[in-house]
Amino acid sequence: MPTKYYFDNAATTPVREEVLQEILPYFREYYGNASSIYSIAKESKKALEAARAKVAAAIGATPDEIYFTAGGSESDNMALRGVVNASKKEKKHIITTKIEHHAILHTAEFLETKGVDVTYLNVDEFGKISLEELENVIRPETVLISVMFANNEIGTIQPIAEIGEIAKKHGVLFHTDAVQAVGHVPIDVEKLQVDLLSMSGHKLGAPKGIGAIYIRKGTRISPLIFGGAQEKKLRAGTENIAGIVGLGKAAELAVAEMEETTKKLTALRDKLIHGILESIPDSRLNGHPTDRLPGNCNISFSYIEGESLLLLLDALGIAASSGSACTSGSLDPSHVLMAIGLPHEIAHGSLRLTIDRENTEEQVDFILEKLPGLVQRLRDMSPVYPGKKA
Ligand SMILES: *Cc1c(COP(=O)(O)O)cnc(C)c1O
Repeated sequence: MPTKYYFDNAATTPVREEVLQEILPYFREYYGNASSIYSIAKESKKALEAARAKVAAAIGATPDEIYFTAGGSESDNMALRGVVNASKKEKKHIITTKIEHHAILHTAEFLETKGVDVTYLNVDEFGKISLEELENVIRPETVLISVMFANNEIGTIQPIAEIGEIAKKHGVLFHTDAVQAVGHVPIDVEKLQVDLLSMSGHKLGAPKGIGAIYIRKGTRISPLIFGGAQEKKLRAGTENIAGIVGLGKAAELAVAEMEETTKKLTALRDKLIHGILESIPDSRLNGHPTDRLPGNCNISFSYIEGESLLLLLDALGIAASSGSACTSGSLDPSHVLMAIGLPHEIAHGSLRLTIDRENTEEQVDFILEKLPGLVQRLRDMSPVYPGKKA
């Protein structure tokens, strides 16, 4: 059955219609290389700089602090590896958290093999770091603190302004992976004292394969990709003008509509969360009850496998995601659910439903109508379910 109920917007979003219309001319009409000097190339250059200004405005930066990349993963790699490579310190230490996206965690693990020390901060049961622990682990060798703005699995929003304050006080650079946050919650890099920030187009209605990194003026950083002189020599490669125009448009729209969208998504999210918790026994909410992304609902059901639930949901045309990582070829439950202290068997029974602008109340009602029966069906088949019918 084709997906009629798309509830996996944290994994990716459809390209918005307004965004699609805006980028189409850049494939056949204005296809010039922005580095060339004839007219259609100038159109590309103009579009490039207009998009840069829109992306900058969306996060309170200036256009010359925005560098386009191929997505969130590249921006995350660039932040960590670029800052470490540019640092003149003999011994280098970075601080991150146990619940980062793998684009950060696997980069940090790679840096460890190159002799960089890494501290992975714990989080509490709601997924928040401790500011006290953060301050305690800063050392003279610390070159970077990287803490995600909002978590992609459980939606928890970190105390970014307080982290920025601590980083500033100790003279350490502060990067945040804001891929889930840009266009979804208000961001001002000046107020928050953020030095580097990652974003990705496809999490806010722009195409996949386009992203950006904000780098505060004067920050020492080395490039990851060498080649031409694009992006002030910090990111070589002919610019993905269509993608860039799309990211600019999507960021502009998201910020302009944020108040209205947040109101709508929060209402749908809370209806979903409360509806599920009330109708299904032995269920618990993962993530922070209030400091969470407007569109994130993550719930664990005891005695079932999240993967089995996803298959039943898919048969009804519902696309969602689970907290066990079988799909990624591993039987380990998600590192995020482990970090908030969930026992393995409960983490395995997790369901993430992420809502965005195109979801409707009717769709939420459909899920609330179907889910209790599906969970019960799986529990009735489970050898460990205590309420099992004889
Ligand atoms: C999706 C995501 C990424 C990766 O972004 P891509 O553009 O898919 O490479 C990084 N961090 C977080 C928090 C994400 O949700």
